[in-house]
Amino acid sequence: MEIQVIPVEGLPLIKKGDDLPALICERMQFQERDILVLASSVYSKSKGHTRELSGIAAGERACRIAEKTGEDPRFVQAILDASEDILLEYPFVLSSLPWGHIGVRAGVDNSNIGEGAIILLPPDPMAAADEVRTAIRTIAGRAVGVIITDTCGRAFRRGQTGIAIGWSGMRAIHDYRGDTDLFGRTLEITEEAVVDEIAGFANFVMGESNSGVPAAVFRNCGTWDGHDNIYFSQEEDIIRRTLEKERGAGDHI
Ligand code: GDP
Ligand code: MN
Ligand code: MN
Repeated sequence: MEIQVIPVEGLPLIKKGDDLPALICERMQFQERDILVLASSVYSKSKGHTRELSGIAAGERACRIAEKTGEDPRFVQAILDASEDILLEYPFVLSSLPWGHIGVRAGVDNSNIGEGAIILLPPDPMAAADEVRTAIRTIAGRAVGVIITDTCGRAFRRGQTGIAIGWSGMRAIHDYRGDTDLFGRTLEITEEAVVDEIAGFANFVMGESNSGVPAAVFRNCGTWDGHDNIYFSQEEDIIRRTLEKERGAGDHI
């Protein structure tokens, strides 16, 4: 069956208190096993995971970083507040978050929200995906999968893509290890990050600026077996270890 990708059009500007699953269900006829992909920015706005810059007092570290990056010190303070650890301060702040993600500016956004306000990533994106999935089951009576995305830069390559920060109703990774290839050789390392692949295409459908499409539905994606262990542990993560060595040497300052 052909995979279909359907944008959810006509959603209003989302504000704190909006019932996002209900607004989506008014505009989308879900089928069983659809996958709803939702931009984290709108989820966060609906839950009030936002801050006003005017209410933030920048500390010494934020001011020091902001001087180098040319950003508003209060914006940098919000990034520091959202971060568990700072892996790099310059040329951009690279943060680890408590739930395993590593991202530029801790995923804090100043776009698609009114002047003087910023959007934070959901504090627990896996729980957020679960919650949206349960809500859709209640409202529409359909068992769907949910992926919550953010637009992120990548190591090694220019350009941002969508990645999955939370998911529910599917495994993050399709584990091919143990399968055989066309020539009968056993695959030993292939773990396909399916949630990121779907998130990447959803990001393409949503766009980045003013198209006003914060959600898309994927139909006929099939199922896969695997696991949810998408984040490297600190010991496994070669890039992180290298950055930490540099930090030890004081190179990032
Ligand atoms: P992020 O990737 O989660 O940081 O979200 P973006 O700011 O890139 O927005 C993704 C998509 O959602 C874009 O098409 C935006 O225009 C759209 N979008 C963002 N906020 C809203 C909103 O409040 N209402 C609607 N209808 N669309 C929004
Ligand atoms: Mn974002
Ligand atoms: Mn985006």
